[in-house]
Amino acid sequence: MSTIIENPLITRHQKLIKRLQKLFIAGQWQDSAGEETIAVYDPSNGQVISQLVAANETDVNKAVSSARECFVSPVWAAMKPTERQRLLMRLADLIEQHADELAELESIDNGKPVVAARQADLNGSIEFVRYMAGWATKITGETLDVSVPRLKEGKFFAYTKPQPVGVVAAIVPWNFPLMMALWKVAPALATGCTVVLKPAEQSSLTALRLGELVAEAGYPPGVLNIITGYGGTAGNTLVHHPDVDKITFTGSLPTGKLIGHAAVEGMKRFTLELGGKSPMIVMPDISVEQAVQGAAMGIFYNQGQVCTAASRLYVHRSLYDDVVRGIAEFAARMSIGPGFDSNTQLGPLISEDQAEKVCAYVRLGQSEGAELITGGQRLDRPGYYVSPAVLANANNQMRVVQEEIFGPVLTVMPFDSTEEVIELANGTEYGLAASVWTNDLKAAHQITENVKAGISWVNCHNVLDPNLPFGGVGFSGIGRELGAASINAYLEPHSVMMRLA
Ligand code: NAP
Repeated sequence: MSTIIENPLITRHQKLIKRLQKLFIAGQWQDSAGEETIAVYDPSNGQVISQLVAANETDVNKAVSSARECFVSPVWAAMKPTERQRLLMRLADLIEQHADELAELESIDNGKPVVAARQADLNGSIEFVRYMAGWATKITGETLDVSVPRLKEGKFFAYTKPQPVGVVAAIVPWNFPLMMALWKVAPALATGCTVVLKPAEQSSLTALRLGELVAEAGYPPGVLNIITGYGGTAGNTLVHHPDVDKITFTGSLPTGKLIGHAAVEGMKRFTLELGGKSPMIVMPDISVEQAVQGAAMGIFYNQGQVCTAASRLYVHRSLYDDVVRGIAEFAARMSIGPGFDSNTQLGPLISEDQAEKVCAYVRLGQSEGAELITGGQRLDRPGYYVSPAVLANANNQMRVVQEEIFGPVLTVMPFDSTEEVIELANGTEYGLAASVWTNDLKAAHQITENVKAGISWVNCHNVLDPNLPFGGVGFSGIGRELGAASINAYLEPHSVMMRLA
């Protein structure tokens, strides 16, 4: 194996990385009550770059108490919507001012190319926080005409007043660490909730830095508390904590099920954004070039570690051979390298475990009868690099077509008719996203109307907007993020009935 290439971003941010080795509770850096730490690895070369706190029960209790105290404090509870809006706008400005630094931290932690982190994760985060800032001043209830049949003579006035749900436990994964955190933190703060955030153990740096920016924006201490730690201990304690009112979780299906159980047991509100196995459907009127370009972006973006990754490609039989050849050539040409290299198109995966898991899935696919056209190998160098893989002649009975791989692995299958492909597309337990590529309006409507997905795209894939609700059906989750739906997920409507006569 070749020698280790040092990551220049780590030298640049060494002091900052060291500062982020504590818990952020009540607006300050705090030591853990325990001694346990978590090693953080640089995916580009496998070196340990930091030791984070592995929060224990005492730490979690402290973070939840801090969030509760802030929630009921006059300064936060009585804060006017205009002030909550102004603070979120200020936070967005601060994220923008530090966008290069945050993009580099994200690349250090997650391995993704800095350029991609700056363009997608940071630009997306900044615009999302600004969008949510606007909602802080637009929260409304309803006035309702009521009859009250039991009291025929009475006269009544009824309205609903939305109230913040309370203390929110936000648990996020490692694929878009800052953006996933902000999808939860921004609407929570817009509505007047307070938050305890637990980032993924592999990728906590930007979440921790966010704590500092929230304090700098002028938020009262305790609005956002950040605990690093293992899911099974810190995360588990948090979701069972009696003083948490709502759990908002993004992550895998097995963890989502555990969290759903914990939420129901404690009668907490919950939102689950889970995995996917999203189909991309290429109809016969699309050019091979367009199909190849779309499929490549759909599966290889963010090293395939995207919940909506187009991991199942269904191609009309008339185009199938050409598209398979084209996507395999595209994959083989991709420039694989560290996130700090501006030529990199495909960075390393998040961890050694993930890289091994992805390669094991490729071998499983071959043993199930799929044909490996290219990729699926670890690169002979330190770091978690896996070459992008194309498995052709797959079918819906294979585990590689049913299970979320969460890496740069594409399965490709032919189809003959629109009805057939709808059935194939709907043939997994997931239902997060789907895309159809066609200029035939009738086919586009027929597929988007019948496909099992929370979001469907036509002639694009992985395109999100702060105003468009996002979430899954089936085993891809419960609830929505983004848009007005996201705001409502942090509000409880309180109904008021007044007797006037
Ligand atoms: P994961 O293993 O489920 O972990 C997600 C988060 O949950 C991490 O912070 C993890 O902590 C924590 N956790 C683990 N066990 C827990 C427990 N028992 N109680 C409370 N928290 C616990 O998922 P992942 O591997 O990080 O992320 C990949 C998954 O996220 C994929 O399935 C992907 O599709 C999904 N995802 C979905 C969306 C969406 O919007 N639908 C977006 C992005 C990703 P540790 O890191 O310490 O384990």
